[in-house]
Amino acid sequence: MKRVFNFSAGPAMLPQSVLEQAQAEMLDWNGSGMSVMEMSHRGKEYMSIAAEAEADLREIMGIPGNYKVLFLQGGASSQFAMIPQNLLRGKGTADYVDTGDWSAKAIKEAKKYANVNVVASTKDGNYTSVPAFDTWKCDANAAYLHYTPNETIRGVEFAWVPETGDVPLVADMSSTILSRPLDVSKFGLIYAGAQKNIGPAGLTIVIVRDDLIGETLPDTPTMFDYKIHADNESMYNTPATYSWYLAGLVFKWIKQQGGLAGMAVINERKAQKLYTAIETSDGFYKSPVAADCRSWMNVPFTLANADLDKAFLSEAAQQGLTTLKGHRSVGGMRASIYNAMPEVGVDTLVSFMQDFAQKNG
Ligand code: PMP
Repeated sequence: MKRVFNFSAGPAMLPQSVLEQAQAEMLDWNGSGMSVMEMSHRGKEYMSIAAEAEADLREIMGIPGNYKVLFLQGGASSQFAMIPQNLLRGKGTADYVDTGDWSAKAIKEAKKYANVNVVASTKDGNYTSVPAFDTWKCDANAAYLHYTPNETIRGVEFAWVPETGDVPLVADMSSTILSRPLDVSKFGLIYAGAQKNIGPAGLTIVIVRDDLIGETLPDTPTMFDYKIHADNESMYNTPATYSWYLAGLVFKWIKQQGGLAGMAVINERKAQKLYTAIETSDGFYKSPVAADCRSWMNVPFTLANADLDKAFLSEAAQQGLTTLKGHRSVGGMRASIYNAMPEVGVDTLVSFMQDFAQKNG
């Protein structure tokens, strides 16, 4: 067996020790005589797995007691609709910040339900920066303000949290959740698809302040009502049981890494190594992203000579460095270096990049 360093944007690498534990427990979880996949979600074994995962997530993120944690399905993409359906609460307008492809998708969906006020957009600059807060044209009456703290495709990450006063702040944290400490109390709602920093695909986590739920738009489907899921502890219907279990193992792994503060130290170091390799390549590699908002999780870069892209990718793959091709809308390369990417994976990539530049420069 040879495991590769997989730089996929998601689904992405999982910690090896988590996979090994899941493997060891595959046929018989904790003497139950069955796999977690085979358990009733209402049985006491599974209920204990689910509760422990939630408790661990609450602990590592410091989630206050007046927030619900929901373990849903449908991906982050379903949240693009669920957020206006649940959070408009009699208001007509919602504020959105447009900093990339995922913001734009959230905006497009929200327009089906709300009068969307785009407070700032970096589209004209090809989504390579974060708009200064003092340029935002916020509506004091907006039901909420939505933004995307980390844009996965173009690798643009906010280094700060907007201060929106009484307007609840809503964040699509799909590709940055659990990468660094966060003050949850600054947010009305945080959501994330699991398949990057949490666990396998199929699970979507929503953390929502409890006073914001319970007033949906008319005709909102039952399954899209946060209150229904909250009142039923995410077991109104069958949840993504195995993904939830694996997420629980990942939360325990994060605790072993020193929690989010520990993760942040490692993540910042990994990212700096990669950006430094790009910056010190004499222009062989380039980062398209403004220096003050370069993502710790998704690092896009281009080769000055795009004719070398193919050779770069195939020689990297030969060294066990896979899935480095950039998103089709950007081209070039993208290295996604989520929590579970070991630092040695980044070190190996950096030395490969240096060798490749020397050979082809
Ligand atoms: N938002 C962001 C920031 C993402 O990176 C992604 C997926 N790459 C999505 C939303 C969509 O997530 P899902 O596939 O879980 O619907």
